[in-house]
Parts: sequence; structure tokens; C-alpha cells
Amino acid sequence: MRILLTNDDGVHAPGIRAAAEALREIADVLVCAPDREQSGTGTSVSLQHPVRVSELAPIAPGVPTYTVEGTPCDAAIIALESLRPGQVDLVVSGINCGSNLGEDVLVSGTVGAALQGYFRGIPSIAISVASLTDVLYEPAGVLLKALVKELDVRGLSKVLPKSSDRPLLLNVNLPNLPREKLADVQITRLGRRAYADVVKEGHDGRRKWFWVTRDKPVWELVEGTDVWAVRNQHVSVTPLHTDLTHGTLPKVLAPLAGDLRAALKGASPNGRVLTSKRAPHPSAAPRAPRKAASR
Ligand code: MN
Repeated sequence: MRILLTNDDGVHAPGIRAAAEALREIADVLVCAPDREQSGTGTSVSLQHPVRVSELAPIAPGVPTYTVEGTPCDAAIIALESLRPGQVDLVVSGINCGSNLGEDVLVSGTVGAALQGYFRGIPSIAISVASLTDVLYEPAGVLLKALVKELDVRGLSKVLPKSSDRPLLLNVNLPNLPREKLADVQITRLGRRAYADVVKEGHDGRRKWFWVTRDKPVWELVEGTDVWAVRNQHVSVTPLHTDLTHGTLPKVLAPLAGDLRAALKGASPNGRVLTSKRAPHPSAAPRAPRKAASR
């Protein structure tokens, strides 16, 4: 199997090294990752400037390693489109330092990079450990290797129902525990977990600066969710897809479309022409019906 390994913590992060060490034993691994930390860049792509790519010494024996002066998505796109076009069977993003749970996946550079594989029809995995300090990567490496082996045995495309026209996209999170303390592996759904973004302000002597920082996350602990699983010392595996459309609201909102259509045509829904209800200014002399303004 040919694997593209990327991340959002940067090519020098210990997590991607642990993933490369685990995966190189069972697959051909190519590393292409940002040259520095890019956490929180989500699905950002550099469209306003060119992106430089350099080959580095392998981060693990036998693993070609490239670094990109760009975002995680840039790294994934460049690898999939230019470095190994049509030659990647699986995209792995991580192992990230810090969890990517619940609604936070929409901000996650780790998940963002995995999405680039998914968008191209390639099965993709994002994997994270839920701690920012003293992170244990060994259990995540063991789990990742087992997961990739399992998918390989089952056949990457056969894991999904035949009706699915999209590849597998998994978001994996581990509690930061040694293997013997991990409770279980749970297949979960996304929970609700939103960071409270806090803006710090200061002055650099010339101008004011603002720094968006992250406060303690707000948890909603519902059984069956990824948030609940990790909180209860389980490994969480969440299958994702990108259909963000609300299930029932399109029907509920149908009348809104009528109102908007009418507004665009300059008439209210019951056919009356929409006019300003404001009384004319007292000084305004009576005049002939206004002609359409010329432009
Ligand atoms: Mn990160």
C-alpha cells in the first residue's frame, strides 16, 4: 500500500515521526508536511502566492520526506497532484498533538489535510492524541498500524457500502494514556465541542494587536459521541463525510425561498409592489410619478 503521510504540527513534530515509524513497516510511505506548525488552519489553501517545496532527510528510515512552506492542505494537494499523482492509496494525517473532536474538526488542520484525500476519492485517516503536553504517541502508532493493516486486509474500497460514492474518511482520537489503560475502541459520531475563542489585545509600540487564543473547551457529554468516548478513556473512531446540509431544514425553510424570490422581483408575496412606508418629507412638493432612476 502507498501512503501519503502529512500533518498540521509540521514535518519536525514527534507525532508524524511516530506515524512514519509505525507505517513504514507495512507500507510505502511518503511524507509531505508543512515546514512549521499550522494547527487550526482547517481547510485553508494558499491561492495568493506560490508555495516552496524542499526534500529533507527522511524522518524515518526509507521514508522520502518533503516539506512545504504552506498549509496542511497545500502539502496534501501538492503531494497528491504533483509528487505522487495517482500513486497514493491512503492518506494519513497526524499523529496530532491535541484532540480533534466534535465541531472542532471544522477548524482542524489535521482533518483538513485528510479531507484533501477524501475529496480526491482516496480513503483518508486523521489521527490525534488528546493532550497538548507529555503526549504518548506509541499507542497511537500501534493503533494506526493495526487500522491500516485491517483496512488493507478488508480492501480499502470494500469497507464502505456499495452505494457510497465517497471514500472512507475516519477521524481517530486517543486519550493520552498508555495502551494498558485504554478502556476500549468505540465507533462514534461527532459530539458538540466548541472552544471558546478568546481575543487578547496588546500594543507593540506602533499598533494594536489582537490574538485569537483558545480557552478551555466547552464539552457536551453525550454517550456515543467522540467527546464522550475520549473523556471515558476510549479510543474514538468517527466516520466522517462532508454533507453539511441540514437534514430537515430545507423543507421547513421552503416558504423563505418564496419571500426571497418575491423580494428579488420587487413585489411582496401577495403581489403588491413593495414601497417605502415612510411619509414624504414635509418640504417635498407634490410631483409627477417618479421615473426609474437612470444609471
Ligand atoms: Mn496540530
